[in-house]
Amino acid sequence: MSKFLKECGSCTECCKGWLVGEALGFRFSPYNPCKFILDNKCSIYNIRPNVCKSFKCEWLDNLEMPNDLKPSNNNTIVIPNFFKTSKYLLSLNSNITINSNLLTWLLNQYVTYNTFLVYYVNGYRQTKGSEAFIDYVNAKYPKYYNVIHYKNN
Ligand code: SF4
Ligand code: SF4
Repeated sequence: MSKFLKECGSCTECCKGWLVGEALGFRFSPYNPCKFILDNKCSIYNIRPNVCKSFKCEWLDNLEMPNDLKPSNNNTIVIPNFFKTSKYLLSLNSNITINSNLLTWLLNQYVTYNTFLVYYVNGYRQTKGSEAFIDYVNAKYPKYYNVIHYKNN
C-alpha cells in the first residue's frame, strides 16, 4: 500500500525548478534542471539522492490541495517553508501569470489559516504576512521575476 494518499506519478516539477543537490556527480538547482529526468520520470529512481526522497511540495503534503493544483497540472510549484515558527508558502510559476484557481486557493490559506504567502502575479512579487515577514521576504526573494524559473526539458 502507498505511504501517501497522493503520489508524484509523472510530475517532475521539483526536479526542474526547486531541488538543490547532486546525483551521480551532476549538480541540479533552480535554473539548472536535473539531467536524470527522462520521459517525465526519474531515470535513477532507486538510487536518487536523499534530498529527492524527502522533499514534499505543498500539493503532495496537503490533502486539501486539489488535484488541478498539482505542479505538473498548472506549471507552478508551491513550496512549504518556515519563518521563525510560522509556516509560509512560496509559489513559483513558470509562466508569468499565475493560475487563478491557485491564487484563490493561496489567498484562502492566508484568510483561513493565517498561512503567510509569497507569490508572483505578472512577474511582481506579492507578500501576505506580518511586517517582520515582509522585511524578511524583501531581503530574501526578488521583487520581479521575469525569467522562466523552470527549464522544461
Ligand atoms: S513537485 Fe511535488 S508532486 Fe511534483 S514531483 Fe515534486 S514533490 Fe512530487
Ligand atoms: S535524481 Fe531523480 S528525483 Fe532527484 S532531481 Fe534528479 S530526476 Fe528528480
